[in-house]
Amino acid sequence: MSNENKLLVSDIQRFCTHDGPGVRTVVFLKGCPLRCPWCANPESLEARQELYYIKNKCIACGECIKACPEHCISVTDKHVVVERDTCTHCFLCTGVCPATALQIKGRWYTADELVEQVLKDQEFFDRSGGGLTLSGGEVLAQAAAAEILLRRIKQLGIHCAIETSGFARWKNLGRILPFCDLVYYDIKMADAERHLSVTGQDNKIILNNLFAAVKEGANIVIRLPMIPGRNMDDDNINALIKMLLPYNLPVEPLVFHQLGKNKYSAVGKPYEMENAAVSKKEDLASIAERLKRAGLKVIL
Ligand code: SF4
Ligand code: SF4
Repeated sequence: MSNENKLLVSDIQRFCTHDGPGVRTVVFLKGCPLRCPWCANPESLEARQELYYIKNKCIACGECIKACPEHCISVTDKHVVVERDTCTHCFLCTGVCPATALQIKGRWYTADELVEQVLKDQEFFDRSGGGLTLSGGEVLAQAAAAEILLRRIKQLGIHCAIETSGFARWKNLGRILPFCDLVYYDIKMADAERHLSVTGQDNKIILNNLFAAVKEGANIVIRLPMIPGRNMDDDNINALIKMLLPYNLPVEPLVFHQLGKNKYSAVGKPYEMENAAVSKKEDLASIAERLKRAGLKVIL
């Protein structure tokens, strides 16, 4: 069956309170063109279904080894090692795992199926002013299907928000803006070369899209992930202030945490931030104070 007009989803979380007003259902989409080493959702990076291994569920029974036609699974120290380069994503191993330690991450949903999920909490949305937030991964990487879903949810009178890196063709952002009550727009670094070296892409498209979205009158909150050792230095903060002041948009500095750490091994990806400190509240408060003093509207 074709996946046209469907969304590839890594997770759906209900009763969220941090990604928009009120109580929200957050749908995490799969596939992102950036590779920020601090990403808390590594299971949302690849734009395909992938094998997800939850180590502490594994009972080392070896059933997956017998089931794998590619012979790419072995057991070491009572846990499973998958040769990801050889894995063909047939997912036969997930079907025989008695402990659900091996799972398929990523499921295709039609707009109808997602509307049904979202409507489960309509009563809470009505009471709290909440709604749907599309996060990721990168929502703009699935813009056509996202537009269909957002249009449907808006028609039901439910608040819609997206969280985006802004890295996409303008037409992908432009087509869904009319259905977004709120856009969280992540800005990581002001300098294009630093942005390229850390995230794998420079920020020219991101900044051009921001400019165009502001011109379209989008309701935007700039999110600034503050990552110790990566972008909290004076050079970057000063450059961000200079760049963002003319927009007069609210900015929300975000703390770095280690909550995504175990998910890297679950998808077989290296985790570069193993030894990084979490952002301290006082450091974040001091950056927020600098942003405020410079004239930016800060949300904390
Ligand atoms: S999904 Fe990969 S590891 Fe699992 S059975 Fe298929 S080839 Fe083997
Ligand atoms: S089948 Fe599941 S529980 Fe058994 S070894 Fe494989 S991952 Fe572990």
